[in-house]
Amino acid sequence: MERANVVIIGGGVVGCAVARELSRRWTDVFLVEQSPNLGMATSSRNSGVIHSGIYYPQDTLKARLCVEGNRQLYSFCAENHVPHRNCGKLVIADNDQQLGELEKLDENGRKNGVAGLRLLERKAVREREPHIEAAAALDVPSTGILSAEDLVKTLARLSTDQGANILTHARVVRMEPGKDFIAVTLQIGDPDDPAHAIEETVESNCVINCAGLYADEVAAMLGNRSYRIFPVRGEYCELVRAKSYLVNNLVYPLPHKHGLGLGVHLTKTLWGTVLLGPTADYVDDKNDYERNRLPVEEFARSAKSMLPELEVEDLKLAFSGIRPKLVAPGTNGFADFVIARDAGVPRAVHLVGIESPGLTSCLTIASHVAPMVAETLS
Ligand SMILES: Cc1cc2nc3c(=O)[nH]c(=O)nc-3n(C[C@H](O)[C@H](O)[C@H](O)COP(=O)(O)OP(=O)(O)OC[C@H]3O[C@@H](n4cnc5c(N)ncnc54)[C@H](O)[C@@H]3O)c2cc1C
Repeated sequence: MERANVVIIGGGVVGCAVARELSRRWTDVFLVEQSPNLGMATSSRNSGVIHSGIYYPQDTLKARLCVEGNRQLYSFCAENHVPHRNCGKLVIADNDQQLGELEKLDENGRKNGVAGLRLLERKAVREREPHIEAAAALDVPSTGILSAEDLVKTLARLSTDQGANILTHARVVRMEPGKDFIAVTLQIGDPDDPAHAIEETVESNCVINCAGLYADEVAAMLGNRSYRIFPVRGEYCELVRAKSYLVNNLVYPLPHKHGLGLGVHLTKTLWGTVLLGPTADYVDDKNDYERNRLPVEEFARSAKSMLPELEVEDLKLAFSGIRPKLVAPGTNGFADFVIARDAGVPRAVHLVGIESPGLTSCLTIASHVAPMVAETLS
């Protein structure tokens, strides 16, 4: 039987950031990922935006970990050659009636400690984005973009350099608390070839649940049924290459009133393509990325007021991602990140509802988890 100090379940950006943070201080850190590669779930199906922290209520984990996470991520990317660009973004008001909402966003951002915010009039918006129609905009200079795939790879490489063990094709199927450990049973092998899969159990002093969309199911393996994740799909379209000149950087509408997403926005990627999206719709299946995709006409309709020159023919369907929401359908509202010890099995820490800005906050989420691990291992 293998013995571990820490088993981290889930090799997305959060699990990899936690592995990098914990392997600086402890030996025998294992990260286990069910897929053949790291970061293939939500961590590679997103906008890749380094958020500023303007949206979230004051003093929430999302606000604190995003604002500080933004600063740390820029330094990390620069030091470790992760492709990124601090391009800034504009949040636009379509009409004068929306100016009040823009001012509220500005005020909220300032309270959260976001630097450099300023309101721009129509003329200044046109100078930055000549094809965008807006009455005014909030300029958010600390926003940027990065390559999420490279971030995951870099965090994983630094973790293994520090001695962490990373296992892919390793799915946690059972957990049982022992006297001074948790027995974590893994199914190792290709899930499409179950006849050749083997089971192995690791006794771990501490377990960190970074299972993204499946964090509720992983918590339930320890008898904790207090979490429920509702999958919310976000779909993207891409502007044909010949029209990517229509957008220079990042342009967002005001966020959804129901809090499901930030609204279909325009993102110029590091590779010069322009993404439209993501939409936000509850789906029944956590793996349902493609069924009943929205037609391109829907995207054209919702983005036309922002980008009047946009035509349906300029769009083609792109990928989709799924948010691990804690807010049930039909119940509007804000849900914070949950980063908490299991009430019944305190050797386990659950990270649940790590939706946006989880990519931006990965390093600060990891620093938040470290003292919890230190308490268990001391
Ligand atoms: C459409 C969309 C757009 C977004 N845009 C942004 C953005 O621009 N900026 C931003 O900051 N954030 C954004 N986010 C949020 C961000 O992508 C997530 O917060 C982040 O990727 C979460 O990472 P994670 O590691 O927690 O989850 P994941 O990437 O989902 O990783 C969890 C991993 O756990 C593994 N796993 C699950 N169960 C088991 C098990 N039993 N055994 C072993 N492994 C298991 C899964 O295979 C998976 O690889 C967006 C999200 C979506 C959906």
